Amino acid sequence: MENKKMRFGTKAIHAGVQPDPATGAIMTPIYQTSTYVQEEVGVHKGFEYSRTGNPTRQALEQNIAAIENGKYGACFGSGLAAIDCVIKMLNPGDEVISTNDLYGGTYRIFNTIFAKYGIKFHFVGMENIDEVKAKVNANTKLIWVETPTNPMMNIVDIEAMAQVAKGANAWLAVDNTFATPYLQSPLDLGADIVMHSVTKYLGGHSDVVMGALVTSSDEIAAEMYRIQNSSGAVTAPMDSFLVLRGIKTLHLRMQRHCENGEKVAHFLKDHPKVDKVYWPGFTSHPNHEIAKKQMRGFGGMISFTLKGNKMEDAHNIVKNVKIFCLAESLGGVESLIGHPATMTHASIPKEEREKTGVVDSLIRLSVGVEDAEDLIDDLTQALS
Ligand SMILES: *Cc1c(COP(=O)(O)O)cnc(C)c1O
Repeated sequence: MENKKMRFGTKAIHAGVQPDPATGAIMTPIYQTSTYVQEEVGVHKGFEYSRTGNPTRQALEQNIAAIENGKYGACFGSGLAAIDCVIKMLNPGDEVISTNDLYGGTYRIFNTIFAKYGIKFHFVGMENIDEVKAKVNANTKLIWVETPTNPMMNIVDIEAMAQVAKGANAWLAVDNTFATPYLQSPLDLGADIVMHSVTKYLGGHSDVVMGALVTSSDEIAAEMYRIQNSSGAVTAPMDSFLVLRGIKTLHLRMQRHCENGEKVAHFLKDHPKVDKVYWPGFTSHPNHEIAKKQMRGFGGMISFTLKGNKMEDAHNIVKNVKIFCLAESLGGVESLIGHPATMTHASIPKEEREKTGVVDSLIRLSVGVEDAEDLIDDLTQALS
């Protein structure tokens, strides 16, 4: 059956995956090889060298392209290596408009690596479309969107950004790490490129670092594969195998992440020690209507603050949880808890981080797929 016609769960399991032609093995083998024997010069089976192409990686690339409703996929050694590939498609003098509430590593590669090669980056509040339009000029080549954002769970209107990009003759790229293709399909909403930190929900088991790009544009795909091969930040066959296995349960995991997220978000909202809860599923969330329009569920990422806003109280909670693990990262089957002010956002001056809402008592949860009642019991004891 054609990829387009299959539904999400069927694609997650079957797209890109064929029984091994040599043995009939139902699972794509881990082709742990750097090179491929040629019958004679230039006569081979489609693979010459594993930086350029590897059968395990190729199966995964086709699978991720299919679940994102795209034509072409490429996998990289990390999410940041995927971002690196996108910016290398630009030229000195080109300008990028992005959100001021960006994943820290994305901000760092833009500002400390690519700015010195003459690419200019603008960071604006993307919930306000006029702020984006105000930065558009003849050099605008790329609009970079992240939605929902980390850790404040802001939502950017992808369709509206696609229109601005189109009007500016620029590309729209969306970091779809938090939502996953199960909940959000940026290409269908007008984006040109989708980017993933596969490390998070796609891998889903906290055992691989990987990135991916998906596009349906022949022009972008040619550049994407040229840079993937030329820069060489590819992912390994073993890791490709692990992620192929992870994606087979993406739809099942996401259903449970969403259910558990909703239960934990409501529990927190009703708790006397909790001040604000940031989760796009609440009708009171400032961008709830856009979230409802462009997402098929609200996920398991939740941030909250404490009454009194004391750093010490937040530290006690993250220390006292027993099922939630204190760690960076997100999107695995196990629940994680983090304190952005002293972990992911520690390098940002207090005044700066507080402007975006990262106050001293802010706690971020990646709600896993355990039993929700156990997670709520754990938070109950930690909060007391
Ligand atoms: C983790 C993350 C990245 C970076 O991905 P790596 O795999 O860690 O390189 C980019 N964007 C978002 C939203 C992330 O959460």
